[in-house]
Amino acid sequence: MPHADTLPLRLRSRTEIEHEIKRKVDEERRRLEAHRTSPPQRQHFHRPVERPFTAAERKSVTILFGGLTWKHEWLLRGVFESSGYKVELLPTPDVAGFQLGKEFGNNGQCNPTYFMTGHLIKYLQGLEAKGQTRQQIVDNYVFFTAGSCGPCRFGMYEAEYRLAVENAGFHGFRILLFQQNDGINAASGEAGLKFTVDFGLGGFNALNFGDVLNDVCCQIRPYEVQPGETERISQGMMQDLAAAMRDRQMFHVSKRFPSWLADRVLENKKAEAITSTLGKIVDHLWGEQTKTALTHARQRLEQVEVDRLRVKPLVKVTGEFFAQTTEGDGNFHMFQFLEREGAEIKVEPIANWIMYLLWQAKAHHRDRKWLDTQRPPAWALHKRALAELKFRQKQAFYGIGEGLYRHLYNRILRELGGIGHELLDQEELVRLARPYYHRFARGGEGHLEVAKNIYYTVHKKAHMVLSLKPFGCMPSTQSDGTQSAVMNHFKDMIFLPIETSGEGEINAHSRVQMALGEAKAKAKLEFQQALESTGRRLDDIQDYVAHHPELRRPFYKVPHTKGVTGTAANFVLHVSSLMSRRRAA
Ligand code: SF4
Repeated sequence: MPHADTLPLRLRSRTEIEHEIKRKVDEERRRLEAHRTSPPQRQHFHRPVERPFTAAERKSVTILFGGLTWKHEWLLRGVFESSGYKVELLPTPDVAGFQLGKEFGNNGQCNPTYFMTGHLIKYLQGLEAKGQTRQQIVDNYVFFTAGSCGPCRFGMYEAEYRLAVENAGFHGFRILLFQQNDGINAASGEAGLKFTVDFGLGGFNALNFGDVLNDVCCQIRPYEVQPGETERISQGMMQDLAAAMRDRQMFHVSKRFPSWLADRVLENKKAEAITSTLGKIVDHLWGEQTKTALTHARQRLEQVEVDRLRVKPLVKVTGEFFAQTTEGDGNFHMFQFLEREGAEIKVEPIANWIMYLLWQAKAHHRDRKWLDTQRPPAWALHKRALAELKFRQKQAFYGIGEGLYRHLYNRILRELGGIGHELLDQEELVRLARPYYHRFARGGEGHLEVAKNIYYTVHKKAHMVLSLKPFGCMPSTQSDGTQSAVMNHFKDMIFLPIETSGEGEINAHSRVQMALGEAKAKAKLEFQQALESTGRRLDDIQDYVAHHPELRRPFYKVPHTKGVTGTAANFVLHVSSLMSRRRAA
């Protein structure tokens, strides 16, 4: 009788086959286990423990930062220096940096991540090329940047910086984070960098000054009579303003109060803390030093002579934060290109973004009423009243924050000549965007891209809206989908979304040129109609302007006529009314 194992499969019973399979599997398992050296270990990711930036290192370690406009950066550098930090600015992100970002960063990131990580690596490599060792660079430099918890890739920036510098061979290089959602109250966790009242308010002023000065210069430069004069004067003006931020005399009770009062205040720690904080706030926001610095800046710019009779299309630049802010390869040098092509541009202030964050915090709190805390039963009147009071207090707190911010921004607008644009009304933006984009679809600019497009069109505040969106940007892709519906509803809208990436500059410029052609035609027609409506000849208007030097001053405020967009059209209407008034007088 043959053994069952030697019989062909078809002649064996089912039990015998299963027994045979089990035997072979066990045999293979034994073989594999014999080759295995150690049992498998599960590896969980842990955020690398970073060496802290300590207070003792302040004098020797240099803080690097960048990524904003040069005006904002110069002013912020002054603020860092005023608090005793060593600081260096990174150059404007460029294509070489972008390539390094791609080389050392993760795949599938959005464009600003590549630009920002890459330009940090480029700078560190530059230090190495100048003779510093990697260890010296890691020990003597830290990078300061903003962070967030998302929901878009902004939440990954910190991790991306760490990964990219690690991959580039700068093991242990430190990244210090300023959390977008926590504001200045969030200590960085690093004792070396402290968000004091002076540092926080100085930074806040620097951002607002930078915003208004950018806005003002964009209104003056296209009309300057001497080409390049605005830029030349701006350089000197910014140097002075940054030095004023750096050399600012901080408020101290002992220096500002008479000695008998200062001694009394200093005796009591609590009284000292309250007096000192309030004094610093008042001094930074309303003090003479701030006023003097702004007055000097305005006086310097006042020297530029302008000719507002040049007909130019007004282009509002919106889009994603980095793409609409950076002044180099990151947005194809779009600001310079637009001005070269004969446009006047309206840039986006960072302050509008800050107002958006404040509005969001307030609206979230309102929408989550009775979700975060349990609603007291109807019969517990006392508890209900208390809960309601607490809720209203917090809403009022947000409201005061918004009001104060707007008030301070308006004050800077006034002191810098009064021609800068006021901050947008966030409630109006929500209302305009509502049919197309949900106000809590967060990430990037959220509903703002759609809302601004409609706002500048319906209020006739721009001939064309150009939205700069980085390649791979999640929120911008969403809002782009919606913009086609928006354009269908607003027939006279000229809206152009441009995707910015490290390449394709010529293609992007040619698309902008085409849309700009339409905007130029719109601006010319509007100017012709405005001139005809006055019944005057252009020569007469020019002659009047030539005899009235105040009309050639950059801070002369030309009133905005309802329904008229262009600077030249508004100017012609205004001059004509001045001429009529003069004749009547
Ligand atoms: S808004 Fe867009 S480009 Fe900016 S960080 Fe988020 S995903 Fe990236």
